[in-house]
Amino acid sequence: MCKIQTQKYINLIFFLFVIIFKGYSQKFFFSSDKDQFWLSTDLHIHSVFSDGNVWPSIRVEEARREGLDLIAITEHLEYQPHKEDIPNPDRNRSFIVASESIKEGEELRVINGSEITREMPPGHINAVFVKDANLLLHNDSLSGIKEANKQDAFVFWNHPNWDEQRKDGIARLDLFHEYLINEKLLHGIEVVNETTYSEEALKIALDNNLTILGTSDIHGLTDWEHKIPLGGHRPMTLVKVKDKSEDSFKKALFEGKTVVWFKNLLIGKEEHLKSLIRQNLIFGPLKYLDGKLIMKVELTNKSMNPFQLEYLGEFSFHQRSNIISIPAKSKIILQIKTRLKKSKISLPFKILNTVTAPKKMLFYTFILK
Ligand SMILES: [Zn+2]
Ligand SMILES: [Zn+2]
Repeated sequence: MCKIQTQKYINLIFFLFVIIFKGYSQKFFFSSDKDQFWLSTDLHIHSVFSDGNVWPSIRVEEARREGLDLIAITEHLEYQPHKEDIPNPDRNRSFIVASESIKEGEELRVINGSEITREMPPGHINAVFVKDANLLLHNDSLSGIKEANKQDAFVFWNHPNWDEQRKDGIARLDLFHEYLINEKLLHGIEVVNETTYSEEALKIALDNNLTILGTSDIHGLTDWEHKIPLGGHRPMTLVKVKDKSEDSFKKALFEGKTVVWFKNLLIGKEEHLKSLIRQNLIFGPLKYLDGKLIMKVELTNKSMNPFQLEYLGEFSFHQRSNIISIPAKSKIILQIKTRLKKSKISLPFKILNTVTAPKKMLFYTFILK
């Protein structure tokens, strides 16, 4: 075999290796600083062990194909509609089955959880990082929530806006929730659940320093619900961590270092959204068109999310209005009429597809040199 052919075969084997390896690796959704990660997580998932339609191993395979970093299996403790076929005396069983389908050396993680399923108040409460789900089964929901806390679980309020429990779709605190928050028994709240976003839940999160969460609450198939083959994605909670260990993840959850990714919308506290924007929208060096006073600068979107920006500054653009769209994983050129030649410029923007508080978007000023 000649040298060129041998090289071709080596290249082909390398290419196949990359494809196979990529098949099992985490997907890149958002860029981060060095020694930091935005973990992609879904902390609210059902299987046939409660009222979902698939076996737990399918949940793992979905997450693997979508490239998530971590999922929690959170079956309804009390609502077991398949129990004639799947008696499920051990409420940890779904988590055990899911864990067994994780391959050796794989980065994807599964953690144990439960959904404490009650009328409002308190409604449905998830606990993740539980050690023994069976011990959470009690006649009253408060004892289950206290037990979850005893197991050092992270506890959050699911779909507080659910129209089966809040006819007007408005999330609001009852005395029971205030008690849970005051006693530090409740740590987070879903601002996004399945296909809904709740501005009122976001306000509750900000007012009470609860962690902002978004989950799929998937019962069917994520491919069908979120059109993943067409480029969609399930609602996720992105968690800012120093390393990918479970301990770091748990710590960051309790510290509220999250951004929710829902369709093309990013929801989170200002400081976390600011770092995500700084890490993903990158301006190139300043240049001027030859002999002109028109600045030409490249803007790169490193993320898998498209962005819409509104420019708020004094200048105008040569080829576009002050509303700028930049697709996922792409570069665009901005020509800015600066009147005088500048070696440094600040460009204030409103990032239109972000939410930092009810009806508030993120303001971000890029400094270009
Ligand atoms: Zn629920
Ligand atoms: Zn649920």
